[in-house]
Amino acid sequence: MGRTAESESGAEHELEPEPGTVFLVGSGPGDPDLLTVKAKRLLESADVVLHDKLPGPKIIEMLPEDRREDVGKRADGERTPQSEINERLVELAREGKSVVRLKGGDSFVFGRGGEEAEYLAAHEIPFEVVPAVTSAIAAPAVAGIPVTHRDHASSVSFVTGHEDPTKAESSVDWDALAATGGTIVVLMGVGRLPDYTTALLEAGMAPETPVALVERGTWPGQRVATGTLETIVDVRDEKDISPPAVTVIGDVAGTRESVVEFIRNEYRETADEETGGNR
Ligand code: SAH
Repeated sequence: MGRTAESESGAEHELEPEPGTVFLVGSGPGDPDLLTVKAKRLLESADVVLHDKLPGPKIIEMLPEDRREDVGKRADGERTPQSEINERLVELAREGKSVVRLKGGDSFVFGRGGEEAEYLAAHEIPFEVVPAVTSAIAAPAVAGIPVTHRDHASSVSFVTGHEDPTKAESSVDWDALAATGGTIVVLMGVGRLPDYTTALLEAGMAPETPVALVERGTWPGQRVATGTLETIVDVRDEKDISPPAVTVIGDVAGTRESVVEFIRNEYRETADEETGGNR
């Protein structure tokens, strides 16, 4: 407690985060260099970090063993229910700890950060939100795909491909998305790729619309697979693309071809060239 250090400007800053506070921190897509300065500082100084697997292997290995709790999966292999994570956050904060809840990407983009904030507020726990680089934009970007482009897409939609199976009606209006003419970025969308590509084709999108899958964006072993609305399911199966991956649908996915040769992200070196890798 009370650790201090000289900042670059020479001023003394209290580096220790406030006790009894919860920090809802996004990790970015996985490359530790893409953590925000604030996220890095909090990871180094918080009393405890609650995380799951999505921040990726490199960021997780940075966390000191004795100050981290993996709340992604329980011993029985099931996902830890959100209610248990919420309760744990409150419990640790009430013990006077400074607590980081670390999520992959940005906590407020399909990250349940909103639910956690509501729960903390309802229990009168002070919290701070630390925004981050979302995989929805960063994974396409490092693959050479801009989610908007003056010549190709004036809008972008971020949607979940993981529908609640108990819902009778789809919670995502694929017809409306197809009608925007903009880029569609699907998160949690590897398993149900056949369902929503079919829905978009039925909604009138051209079968030759470019589609890219970016798997483990910015992680060691990132892979990119490309095809069209008509072929991408076969491409996914051939290359055995698995989560985490984002699906980028729209003409922007086709622009990659003209830049890929010159992309110099370090992730490229670890790409799986045999299966097409980053090409
Ligand atoms: N809050 C996260 C999203 C959580 S939902 C964010 O802002 O990025 C989980 C989904 O995020 C995954 O199924 C996948 O679609 C996507 N995802 C997260 N990290 C990723 C990565 N490094 N590369 C590709 N997709 C990723």
